[in-house]
Amino acid sequence: MATIEPRRGLLIVLSGPSGCGKGTVVSRILAQREDTVLSVSVTTRAPRPGETDGVEYFFRTREQVEEMIRNDELLEYAQYSGNYYGTPRAAVEALLEQGKNVILEIEVQGAGQVMHREPDHVSIFLATPSMTELERRLRSRGTETEERITSRLSAAQYELQHACDYQYLVLNDEIPLAVQRLNSIIEAESLRYSRMKTIMEGF
Ligand code: 5GP
Repeated sequence: MATIEPRRGLLIVLSGPSGCGKGTVVSRILAQREDTVLSVSVTTRAPRPGETDGVEYFFRTREQVEEMIRNDELLEYAQYSGNYYGTPRAAVEALLEQGKNVILEIEVQGAGQVMHREPDHVSIFLATPSMTELERRLRSRGTETEERITSRLSAAQYELQHACDYQYLVLNDEIPLAVQRLNSIIEAESLRYSRMKTIMEGF
């Protein structure tokens, strides 16, 4: 009997404004699904307290990131708040080949590059039900200055204008519901005939 090769994993592009709960939703998905991993990006921003190189990000200098850009080592990259952020291509490709679904939790400009370059992707925009709710969540963190809140809200306005570029819109009104919606998308996308083809060929 032919052995069934693991199918290629899903390349999942996930964006959403700061404060929409991306981090929480993604960490629940990762805890529930062994078949899904989060890509670790490179960034030139400084580590926040508690962040470790190679875990949340690979913290690199501008020169190092620019070298990676020149060598075409990044699947996408963008400048955000004065820093570079980018997705290392080789790591993502290796994980997809192993059959893992890979989540890229990235902002809208980089997401646009992936949508353009990688036709076989799944794109999801995560949003709060309203701007008022987003503002409430940002304020309830209690860690942000008024200036940072205003700047994050105006960044959110910009990001929301790009929500229509994504295949799916997931509302994060309640975390368990948002997690369930994301799981449904992953399940359904995995069952597309085009992705099951290798399995059918094994029969
Ligand atoms: P933070 O500095 O708060 O960790 O991230 C700032 C923004 O950069 C977030 O919107 C996050 O999704 C985005 N981001 C993180 N990694 C990447 C990446 O590799 N590429 C792009 N384009 N955006 C990223």
